[in-house]
Amino acid sequence: MSAVPNLPESIVRVDPVHANPYNTKNGISHVEQAPLVQEPKSNGVPHTNGVAHTNGVKAEPEWLLHDVPVENQRPIRVIVIGAGYSGVYCGIRIPERIRNCDLTIYEKNDGIGGTWYENRYPGAACDVPSHSYQFSFNPKPDWSSLYAPSWEIRDYIESSAKKYGADRFIKLRHEVTDCEWREDEGKWHVKVKKPNGEIFEDTCEILVSARGLLNNKQWPDIEGLRSFQGEIMHSAGWNDSYDFTNKRVGIIGLGSSAIQIIPKLQKIAGAQLNCFIRGRTWISPPLAQGVQDKLGMGDKFNFSEELIEKFKKDPEAWLDFRMMVEADANNIHAVTLKGTEMQMNAQKAFEDGMKARLKKRPEYFERLKPSFAPGCRRLTPGPGFLEALAEDNVTYTRDRIAKIEPKGVVTEDGKLHEIDVLICATGFYASAAPPFRTAGLNGHTLQKHWYTRATNYLSLTTDQFPNHFFMLGPNGAIGEGSLTMMIESTGDYILKAIRKIQKENIKSMVIKPARVRDFTRYCDAYFNTTVFMDDCQSWYRKDGQGRSSDKVTGLWPGSTLHCIEALRSPRWEDYEYEYVPEPNGAEINQMSWLGNGWGLTQLGDNVRTVDLGFYLMPMFQERDIGVPLPGKPEENEQYRIRPWSY
Ligand SMILES: Cc1cc2nc3c(=O)[nH]c(=O)nc-3n(C[C@H](O)[C@H](O)[C@H](O)COP(=O)(O)OP(=O)(O)OC[C@H]3O[C@@H](n4cnc5c(N)ncnc54)[C@H](O)[C@@H]3O)c2cc1C
Repeated sequence: MSAVPNLPESIVRVDPVHANPYNTKNGISHVEQAPLVQEPKSNGVPHTNGVAHTNGVKAEPEWLLHDVPVENQRPIRVIVIGAGYSGVYCGIRIPERIRNCDLTIYEKNDGIGGTWYENRYPGAACDVPSHSYQFSFNPKPDWSSLYAPSWEIRDYIESSAKKYGADRFIKLRHEVTDCEWREDEGKWHVKVKKPNGEIFEDTCEILVSARGLLNNKQWPDIEGLRSFQGEIMHSAGWNDSYDFTNKRVGIIGLGSSAIQIIPKLQKIAGAQLNCFIRGRTWISPPLAQGVQDKLGMGDKFNFSEELIEKFKKDPEAWLDFRMMVEADANNIHAVTLKGTEMQMNAQKAFEDGMKARLKKRPEYFERLKPSFAPGCRRLTPGPGFLEALAEDNVTYTRDRIAKIEPKGVVTEDGKLHEIDVLICATGFYASAAPPFRTAGLNGHTLQKHWYTRATNYLSLTTDQFPNHFFMLGPNGAIGEGSLTMMIESTGDYILKAIRKIQKENIKSMVIKPARVRDFTRYCDAYFNTTVFMDDCQSWYRKDGQGRSSDKVTGLWPGSTLHCIEALRSPRWEDYEYEYVPEPNGAEINQMSWLGNGWGLTQLGDNVRTVDLGFYLMPMFQERDIGVPLPGKPEENEQYRIRPWSY
């Protein structure tokens, strides 16, 4: 008996999951299942089993219908590298939106959280409001602070992974050590190191790198670094058990991490800090001062119990607050554009703010004041940093470091600064090739491809690396606005690509080199109008420590809102495609995905008759189709807010 009333029993039924032809050994439809059309060719020779013969010469086999419903959910395997915000997002959305997809997320660390698992130094916290640094669909009303501490963000990412089941796919302590594209198979071969050190090989059709833009530690290139006999640590590899009490502490760096570490260590009893600071930087006021003012928080960052309770109990107040935080961040885009009023006002405000905070040692202002505009390097509010720098137990050493000796740091004037512990807050290799081999077409490696510059397409892929996508790849970060929304937009784009590959029987898709060139040109022209091309050294530039002559490879060329819209609707024509061969060797038919004329909703054993009219259900009406306003549909508010979003 047919499960669907009125469905003639004579029609071949296909179980969309188990009997679908892609579940067969070669992954391709068994030709006998498809109706064989016997049609004479122009030479009048009929076909049998799709293969024509003329005078003993084997002619081109005839193309045959694929016996699958139009959704074409052939099995596909995806490997994601990394389980930070980006990898977890993939682990939530891929199983939600793609069927028949076998997913594994390899994570080298012991735990989930990425940046926020690794960066545990005292003072580690986000420097943008936590409320615009979370998943849009999983808002947390009880962030303890406007700038949540590292452990709280890590807990949030981990609990999101558990809540939405992404943890099912995550293999901890599994480090990817090598990735190679095999063109003949249309597969990536991925080598993975297990916790016991053993290396095994896994394969997938699609490789997603979510390995983080700031994950590959950069140590300072200083003679004798390894000869130091005291404790030495990178800010992203903190030794939690080290006791800083009564210690002489050397700190190298003036990036976001050093700015957060210094005020915390300065307060430790008996600690003597020596900060080796060559560069200059702007220290910004809190990035969400407007929000703090509106909430009456003054200069405090922590939320009161009452406010958290209000956020929990009053969804409207909670949404209003979130909208205010988002709007605040998206409203300052002009501060990154050269010569705008907002940018010039910001510089004046920064100068005034820094002078006020350096009352104890006003001469430090001239030492720190950069010649570049605010924003050229990543802005960090650095609460307490300037005040700590001016304290009596802190030495601000500007002389260049000549070398490091077993007992401490020697500056160019020949002076030995004796220390017990050396902290290298010297950042990461950003926008650089991974620290493991990734070989694309013809064995061409990403290391070679990006030797001079990490060229890319919309931050999410690059030419010569088929079926390979990046979450937060080069040109993927943002100087202002919500990065997590950009992670979501990038993830959604990659999902569409995975689905396209699956549905359209694509063996490989690779971005055209010309489009990478065009995007690179776009980036360069765009960044010339911004403060990011000022004379500063920043991780937004090449390899994470770029010089002022280097181009910007770390940032998205535009605002967060610009990124969301740019990635919303992929331009599939920017890619080149190779298709899975036809099972009987016939010429490839790019419309084969149309399947057998059936829709998946109609097939299978558990079909509910009511589902066959799914497009009338309110959830699909609202989400997919939209209900037009009577009279003047174009006056719907949503088209004013996002004119092209449909
Ligand atoms: C100290 C610090 C502060 C920051 N503050 C902010 C902030 O306030 N606001 C903001 O927007 N951004 C901030 N960032 C940037 C931050 O990195 C991103 O916001 C975000 O966390 C990136 O998430 P991700 O998942 O893409 O990468 P990550 O969080 O870096 O995660 C990548 C994961 O990939 C794993 N991995 C890497 N290589 C391999 C491999 N070979 N095999 C297996 N696993 C691998 C890593 O172990 C890691 O868990 C900060 C970064 C740092 C370092």
